[in-house]
Amino acid sequence: MPSYTAPLEDMMFLFEKLRDNKNYNELEKYKEVSSDLVKDILEEAAKINQNLILPLAKAGDENPAVLENGVVRTPPGYKEAYKKYIEDGWTSLSCDPKYGGQGMPKTVSAFFDEMLSSASLSFKLYSELSIGAYNCINHHASDELKEKYLPKIVEGKWSGTMCLTEPVCGTDLGLLKTKAEKQKDGTYKISGQKIFITSGDHDLTENIIHLVIARATDSPTGTKGISLFLVPKFVVNEDGSVGPRNGISTGSIESKMGIKGSATCVLNFDDAIGYMIGKKDKGLNAMFTMMNLERIVVGIQGLGISEIAYQNSLAYAKERKQGKTNKTKSTNGADFIIEHADIRRSLLNMKSIIEGERALCFWLSQQTEVSLNHQDEKVRQEASDFVSLMTPVVKSLFTDLGMEITNDAMQIHGGYGYTKDQGIEQLYRDNRITPIYEGTNSVQAADLVFRKLSNKNGDIINKFIDLIKTETDLKNEKIKPFTKEFSFYLNILTKFSEWINEKMKTDKDDVSAAANDYLKTLGFVSVAYAWIKVLDVSFKDYNENKNFFDDKINTAKFYFDKVLPRAEQHYKSAISGSSNIMNFKFN
Ligand SMILES: Cc1cc2nc3c(=O)[nH]c(=O)nc-3n(C[C@H](O)[C@H](O)[C@H](O)COP(=O)(O)OP(=O)(O)OC[C@H]3O[C@@H](n4cnc5c(N)ncnc54)[C@H](O)[C@@H]3O)c2cc1C
Repeated sequence: MPSYTAPLEDMMFLFEKLRDNKNYNELEKYKEVSSDLVKDILEEAAKINQNLILPLAKAGDENPAVLENGVVRTPPGYKEAYKKYIEDGWTSLSCDPKYGGQGMPKTVSAFFDEMLSSASLSFKLYSELSIGAYNCINHHASDELKEKYLPKIVEGKWSGTMCLTEPVCGTDLGLLKTKAEKQKDGTYKISGQKIFITSGDHDLTENIIHLVIARATDSPTGTKGISLFLVPKFVVNEDGSVGPRNGISTGSIESKMGIKGSATCVLNFDDAIGYMIGKKDKGLNAMFTMMNLERIVVGIQGLGISEIAYQNSLAYAKERKQGKTNKTKSTNGADFIIEHADIRRSLLNMKSIIEGERALCFWLSQQTEVSLNHQDEKVRQEASDFVSLMTPVVKSLFTDLGMEITNDAMQIHGGYGYTKDQGIEQLYRDNRITPIYEGTNSVQAADLVFRKLSNKNGDIINKFIDLIKTETDLKNEKIKPFTKEFSFYLNILTKFSEWINEKMKTDKDDVSAAANDYLKTLGFVSVAYAWIKVLDVSFKDYNENKNFFDDKINTAKFYFDKVLPRAEQHYKSAISGSSNIMNFKFN
């Protein structure tokens, strides 16, 4: 079983030194979230993840969730762990105190999400969609629904799901067939089949609150006729108690490559009672509140799995002896593999990506809080534009690099990585879903180039580039070699953005074919931007903690020398265009 130690020092470094967003620091509601409080929370979070949740990863992989006589049973240990998990209040961490939450900002809850993803993604998924459902209900439902459902979801006694996918509709939700028939009392009867539903059924909570998209019988076809409904597994009585079973049954559980502890269900809705959330035919807008926040969390899943893969690769490389290096120190014939240049390169590749991603995510968490809570609407909107730009980037880049990192971790472990002994191959299998669900990474890339670069508020990508330029124009002489290098790649991003803009007018296939490359270029440059922020503090506060900051400076150096140049390769590949791709005859 892989071991795991939560990276508390790095997390506290970010919280203490990189809360540099002026608008975030103006938020009244977080003025009392002090470093001491966050340190206490993260230390407790580390304990529960390292001790209680980490062993559930192997347990869930070896004893997947099962469907027995119509009832879903979670793997051994899940029930006991979930009980403790909700008793300790982890489901309520970032929720509104009005509904029993602890009101912590995403600058804190994102760290918890990362730890939980490292410890066991399967276990995490049972509460993850609950938070998504909480956000959606909180933003879009009537006060009556909020009062009735949110306190129990926040407490973790009830969980949530997101029911979009159907046999014929995955990416293209306009094809959905599930129908909603209005009743005299204003409720709806929901009928249809949903597939691939994470935590669609299980034995951890007293009730499951499904958020289901369906088409009202008098609504138009396509995406313009989709509404959103709250459909509980058990109907909830007037007094809030759990009533009779609703018309929902579990058809089967998917047999999967990874995240086997997570119950991925086929759900059949037969005249199930549902309550509309938000406006009729505007269901996708409401659902996107859930999906956008969720997509960032999926990016964090990739980061968390990368972290545990790195930690175990480092430990293994320090204890495995094979071969001699060019400058061998060995007296008995073999060096530790960590002495080999290629293994060192691989480890540094992982470390520089992970720490850069974490810093970028911390920046994004501040922007997200500003977009949700700042009192000035203009400031909120600007932050919201940056969040919307960066959401597909974080989702796709972090999960794709999670595949690279878990693959490299297996390589460092050699045959012991491929066999089940060390649990490394499970990290690869568990991470493999992250580039697929919540909208595949290719669809994220298309979303980025066609919808996120500019919107009704203007040219978002150029506003982002301007922000980066201003913030990386630093006076410190020591940082100059990094900022000089950085401006070369920022220039490439600018040229690439202009190329996309031009091609948008002349050949959209060129844009589609370049979308993944563009996302990567923007992603690698954004991670470099986060590294510049880390470097700025590292040089300024160097004497406070020389070892820590030396480590940061040298890791950043690797990122700038060996990882950032990929931004240019993606640009060069993309601008060759799409004519050969589109004209090629597949036989
Ligand atoms: C373990 C697991 C858990 C899941 N959990 C949930 C859940 O809780 N709720 C839920 O509703 N769904 C869930 N899903 C479904 C998941 O979100 C979908 O599988 C995913 O959105 C892709 O849809 P699809 O599988 O139908 O693939 P398709 O949409 O058929 O896509 C197939 C391929 O075509 C590409 N493609 C499709 N459209 C385009 C386009 N316009 N441009 C370019 N390329 C395109 C895709 O990128 C992909 O490579 C889950 C799936 C799995 C496997």
